[in-house]
Amino acid sequence: MPELPEVEVTRQGIDEPLRGARVLALRLGKPLRWPLGCRPQRLIGGTVGPVLRRGKYLWLPLARDGADAGGLLLHLGMSGSLALRGQPGVAGPHDHFDLVTDRGTLRLTDPRRFGAVVYSPALDRPPAARLLARLGAEPFDPALTAESLHEALRARRSPIKSVLLGGEVVVGAGNIYACEALHQAGIHPAARSDRLGALRVSRLLSALRATLARALHLGGSTLRDFSDVHGASGAYQSEAAVYGRAGAPCPRCARPVRRIVQGGRSTYYCAGCQRR
Ligand SMILES: [Zn+2]
Repeated sequence: MPELPEVEVTRQGIDEPLRGARVLALRLGKPLRWPLGCRPQRLIGGTVGPVLRRGKYLWLPLARDGADAGGLLLHLGMSGSLALRGQPGVAGPHDHFDLVTDRGTLRLTDPRRFGAVVYSPALDRPPAARLLARLGAEPFDPALTAESLHEALRARRSPIKSVLLGGEVVVGAGNIYACEALHQAGIHPAARSDRLGALRVSRLLSALRATLARALHLGGSTLRDFSDVHGASGAYQSEAAVYGRAGAPCPRCARPVRRIVQGGRSTYYCAGCQRR
């Protein structure tokens, strides 16, 4: 599944080349998770503005005659990837959306079709506002502090791993990053979020930022083509301390890494380094 680093690397890859591009045509393939929500003709002639990211959504704002003309909210779902190419070639069976512009064609390839491209009149109006409503804080937003995170975690009574994965307190902690950040911070994945002290929450925030920054760095530096669904996370996983390493020695204390299932997802942790 594309995680926040893949989406951010994608944003960085398409933002500059698409900025100021004029929409010439749209091509819709098989239905995605939600319908486009407007006639494709409505978008033709629009100019693409700076591409934003919120959680794992991308927002492509459009302008017409210098005025805001809504935009497209994109989600990569379980298996989606975007590529911007001058000559995209004939659409294949998994290519379900083309935004044809005078700077190239942005193509969504999504075999499982949980991805989406939705028109919205603005980012803060429905349907975009509704889809983004439950998203937690951005991990690198300076407004997210150890104090504000501590307060948000105190209002939940669930295992910290589940709270992180849920994305309603802070976005971006996909399974690999949640496991790694908790290991780095020395926090047991089943520890209740409302019982974590301020110092441990502060360590957790630093660890989450460090793991995501490392994945972004690897994704940005090792991927030639940002259209790789598992690019950044895959590169990061090769240096993970616990994720996917059940039975292997913890790099810090050499005890075997354990695997448990929480909320239907695999959790990897070290019983030696991570306390409740
Ligand atoms: Zn350990």
